[in-house]
Order: sequence, then structure tokens, then C-alpha cells
Amino acid sequence: MDFGWTPEDNAFRSEVRSFIRKTIPPNWDEMNLDEEEEEVYAQEFARKLLPTKWRVMHWPEAYGGLGYGAWRQLIFSEEVTYHRFPGAWDGGNMVVAPLLMHAGTDDQKRRFLGPIANADYSWCQLFTEPESGSDLASLRTRAVLTGDDYVVNGQKVFNTGAHLADWGLLACRTDTEVPKHRGISFLLVDMKSPGVTVRPLINLTGAHAQNEVFLEDVRVPKDHLVGRENEGWYLLVSALSSERGGINRATQAKRLLDDVTGFVASTAYNGRPIGKRPEVRNRLAELAIAIDLARWVFYRAIWAQVNGMDPTRENSASKIMGGEVSQRLASTAMNMMGLYGQLNRRSKYTPLQGRIEMMYKETVYYTIGLGTSEINRNVIAQRGLGLPRG
Ligand SMILES: Cc1cc2nc3c(=O)[nH]c(=O)nc-3n(C[C@H](O)[C@H](O)[C@H](O)COP(=O)(O)OP(=O)(O)OC[C@H]3O[C@@H](n4cnc5c(N)ncnc54)[C@H](O)[C@@H]3O)c2cc1C
Repeated sequence: MDFGWTPEDNAFRSEVRSFIRKTIPPNWDEMNLDEEEEEVYAQEFARKLLPTKWRVMHWPEAYGGLGYGAWRQLIFSEEVTYHRFPGAWDGGNMVVAPLLMHAGTDDQKRRFLGPIANADYSWCQLFTEPESGSDLASLRTRAVLTGDDYVVNGQKVFNTGAHLADWGLLACRTDTEVPKHRGISFLLVDMKSPGVTVRPLINLTGAHAQNEVFLEDVRVPKDHLVGRENEGWYLLVSALSSERGGINRATQAKRLLDDVTGFVASTAYNGRPIGKRPEVRNRLAELAIAIDLARWVFYRAIWAQVNGMDPTRENSASKIMGGEVSQRLASTAMNMMGLYGQLNRRSKYTPLQGRIEMMYKETVYYTIGLGTSEINRNVIAQRGLGLPRG
């Protein structure tokens, strides 16, 4: 199928590929690094990317970007994802920057966009609460305007990277007297503020990536309000949708499929390559089809966005399909590896550097974070099919 890549697009893809080849050692993800070493590596690579401005290529030039369109961004995303280039994206440039460009004050843009472009600040999202996940509009963290500051009290949970973050994007309640969707606002919170306590949550891969965040009489200057007070819900819905549309699970799955295919083609059991077994071939062929479909839906989400249509339905569909196919692939690969699949990367017997074991656990999250698959199906039913709210 011809998606109409221009010669410039193809040249750009080659340029990104050759940058990746020159910048990261081919075996970097086989180096058995621990969590902290991996973080250091990711930061180092992210810094090497800075001069190219590719991380922020889609930003207008006035804000320090290159003004490239969404298709170029897709090419970049496919290449860095396929080659597992670490540190290419972060919450600051994926969520906070578009939000500030859309609804931030001039002062907020001046203050935050430059450091986001230069990866000087690390950001976390403070949305979910112990009693408010899928039904995010029921959130209870309260912000009360007192003089020149909002005083914030409440608790957030599952906050990825909050222990490393300089700033947090906080969804909080600023009016309790109106219907729940109409009393929510967005604040930019300095994570070093007195009253912010971050406690680790160890996830099922054994990593410390998520946290609980407690906010106790935290003072946030009122000029850190993004958009208008009590209109945060509409910004939140749109930020979540574009984040769903921006995650490229299909390419990640394609890479894993290629790795698994290489493994079964080159590994024999009882003298016969695993890849000759009909059940293995059928399963991998089915997954290849599903990954292609997830990729086309991802493209369609970008096409809708580029053509000025509301991409909500496509973004949710892309998130569901990419997440679910990744889970199926990880589970199938785990079965194909037999007991070896369960070995983690520290074992000398582990196939594919323990990636199967890691993906098997990690992909559980893919149908939960950024709205569960059920919630995204609800979004499609309501916003895509026009059915009444369930
Ligand atoms: C690894 C990880 C990282 C995360 N990172 C962040 C982060 O950085 N910042 C942040 O704010 N949050 C983060 N989250 C939170 C995530 O967004 C929520 O877990 C998610 O929205 C689901 O909310 P919940 O866990 O409260 O589940 P619940 O809302 O309690 O849902 C439980 C189950 O009920 C189903 N369900 C609920 N309501 C409906 C409905 N109306 N119709 C059909 N089914 C329904 C759900 O699909 C789910 O299966 C993260 C979560 C994980 C696991």
C-alpha cells in the first residue's frame, strides 16, 4: 500500500535510522543494565537527541520546534520505537507542552516550553486517585484559592515517574457545588513544594516506576492554573485522547514479533526448528495480521488529526488494538519459549535477553493505563457511534 511518503519523508526516515545506528550501541538492550543504569543511559541518549530537535519537531518554530507535521513525527516514532531508542519521549513533550500551547498563558509558555524542549524538567501526571480511576471526573483532591495561592489537599495514585519528577500536572477539584465534570481544574505543581510526599509503588515487573503522591496544604501560585478555573475536564479529556493516539504500541509489537520470528526460525526442539510447527506458524501469522491492523488504525488516527477531524474514536481504537495485540503476542511468545520464557534477563539461559518475560508482565498495563480497554470501548460507543452514555 502506498501511503504517499514523499522523497523528503523517505530521506528523513533514512536520516533518523542512520542517527540511531551511530548513536546507540547495537547491543545496548542486551547489556543487562539495572533500573538506575538504564535511566542514566536513557538520559544520555535523550541529550544526544537534543541538537536534532526531533523530540519537539512537531512544535511550531516559535516555541523552539521544527514545525514538522504529524506524519514526520510518525516516521520518527516508528524508527525510535522499532530500534528501542530510549529517552525519545517524555510526558512533558507529549502532554504538558501541547496543553500549554493550547491553553497556557504567555508567561507559562515562556517559562516551561523551553525547559521541556531541552529535557531540563521531568514531569509526572497527577490524575488518578484511590477512588477515581476510570471515573476520573469524581476526583476529590481539593484546591482552594487562598490569597495568591491555591491550597491543595488530597491523594493521587499510580503516578509514573513522580519520584523523579520536577513538576506535576495536577487535576484537582476547584468547585464542589457544580456537577462533577464542571468543577475540575489543572495546576502545575512544583514537586519539591512543602507538603508533597511521594511514596513508591513497586509494579509487577519489580520496578519502581509508579508512586502514591500525598498533597497536604500544598501552596500552588494561582498563576500556575492552566486554562480557566473549572474548565479543566475538557482539557483533560482532550489531553488523554491525544496521548492515547500518540502511543505506538503497534511498532513495538512488530519489533517483538520480528524477534520472536527470528528465534523460532533459528531454534530447534528435538532436532526440528520450532518455526516448522504448524501451530507456531499459524499463531505468528495471525499476530502479524493483527499488528498490521493496529498499525493502520494508528495511521488512521493521525490522518484524522491531520485532516482536522475529531480523532477521539481513532485514538481510542488505536490504543485498544495496540495494547491488546501486544498482550496476545507476549502470551503467545511465552508459550512458544516453553519454560525458558519465564527466565528473566539475568539468567544465562534466557531467550531474547528476557524480553518475553518482561513483556508478558509489562503488557498487563497496556490495557489499563490511559483508560482501560473497557473505558476506551465506551468512548467509541459514545463518541464514535453516537450511543447514549452508559
Ligand atoms: C502501570 C500504570 C501506570 C499508570 N500511570 C499513571 C500516571 O502516571 N498518572 C495517573 O494519574 N494515573 C496513572 N495510572 C492509573 C490508570 O490511569 C488507572 O489505573 C486507570 O485509569 C484505571 O483506573 P483504576 O485503576 O482505578 O481502575 P477502576 O476504574 O477501578 O476499574 C476497575 C475495572 O472496572 C472496569 N470499569 C470501570 N468503570 C467501567 C465502566 N464504566 N464500564 C465498563 N468497565 C468499567 C475497568 O475497565 C477495570 O477493568 C497508571 C496505572 C498503571 C497500572
